[in-house]
Amino acid sequence: MIESTELSGDITMKILMIHAWNEKEKAYRGHFSGMLSYPSMTLAVLYSLVPEGLYERIDTVDENSQRVNYDSVHYDLVMISFETSSALTGYKHCDEFRKRGSYVAVGGYHPTAMREEALTHADTVIAGPAENSVPAFLRDFANGCPKQFYRDYNVCMADHPIPAREITTKKHTLGIPAVIADRGCFNNCKYCSMRTMWRSDPRPVEGVIEELRGIKSRNVIFYDPNFFGKREYAMKLMEAMKPLKKLWACNATADFGYDHELMAAAYESGCRGVLIGLESMNTSSLNDADKRFRQSDKYKEIIDNIHSHGMAVNGCFVLGFDSDTEEELLALPERVDALGLDCCRFAVLTPYPGTRLYRELDSAGRIISRQWDRYNQKTAVFAPANMTAERLDEIHRDVWRRAFTWRRIFRRMRVSPWRHRWYVFILLGANIGFKFLGNGKKAK
Ligand code: SF4
Repeated sequence: MIESTELSGDITMKILMIHAWNEKEKAYRGHFSGMLSYPSMTLAVLYSLVPEGLYERIDTVDENSQRVNYDSVHYDLVMISFETSSALTGYKHCDEFRKRGSYVAVGGYHPTAMREEALTHADTVIAGPAENSVPAFLRDFANGCPKQFYRDYNVCMADHPIPAREITTKKHTLGIPAVIADRGCFNNCKYCSMRTMWRSDPRPVEGVIEELRGIKSRNVIFYDPNFFGKREYAMKLMEAMKPLKKLWACNATADFGYDHELMAAAYESGCRGVLIGLESMNTSSLNDADKRFRQSDKYKEIIDNIHSHGMAVNGCFVLGFDSDTEEELLALPERVDALGLDCCRFAVLTPYPGTRLYRELDSAGRIISRQWDRYNQKTAVFAPANMTAERLDEIHRDVWRRAFTWRRIFRRMRVSPWRHRWYVFILLGANIGFKFLGNGKKAK
């Protein structure tokens, strides 16, 4: 909660904050697939940005595990955050709450990329990072003069509030708190949607440490898109984290696996696993994606190096680049075995609005669907170069099913650097969660 001195009079109002979730995606609501989701950081941050004295009551709904009730309370203001695949659900909520007389403000990735569309369902769009725009909007709303559009990328990360984690539900989630230190990434992968949302410098190390000290859990996960991207900052942060004795995981890029000093420092400060977007085993596809690291023949060496420092690797792959062939994609489960990954994940290439990939495919007339709930990383919404969209979907389901047979899952556990540690059960849970998540059902 932040202090406010700019409100007119004695104001009280009821606010509902919703982190919307694609209602057609039930998979994350299961017991095993709950192992894959974290409590909503979005809601925790939004809550912490409400100026003090402004509200009578704030309710939150994380649709990942909770239901929205349109009629239980009349809310003066409903704030809804959503990604592209959840946009249709988010818009449904907007329309329902507006019918009931609530003022509706939307934010998050999709409204940022599709402002005009979002304004056909909402009264206000808050684009980009929330830190400055949400308090500004709430003050304007309380003073009776909300604008249609807010956008402020000049966020001072030193002022980043400590997220109000206590208000988020832990139901059907892994229960590992998420933390952000640096939202930036200096890479520019063609399909990446991060840059649309975040342009910021890292938070001061002291602020991150203060936040970590306040987290009871020994385990944390960093949501930073590229934790080691600013090497000097990462080294300073990891040095400061050592006394806290946390165990943590983060996102990294493949070149992390060549920097032995950085890997040793990461392990010493408690890092036990990294998620790396390996994306493809085909160098031409890495070129298609404009990945900075394009040497897929080095992946095995990189993974071995990271393992030698005691950290597990979750490798993510994207299917559907223009250079991808059916044969290569179908061979992915065997090639993942050969890499020795601890966990893996496969996504159909998805051209999110606002990305370079979307603009490129759109201008080539290759976007075949703008039904946003199909932008779910398992449905081809564009015409692939070397196969039909339906065939790409089929291959994706087949690769996922074969990558998560019980035999493959237990083999991963046997060879993982975590195999003699208690946290191997987190890895096992994640693998089982992915098995159930990709259970072969066709996306509608
Ligand atoms: S490395 Fe990751 S976060 Fe950075 S641009 Fe590429 S996909 Fe986006």
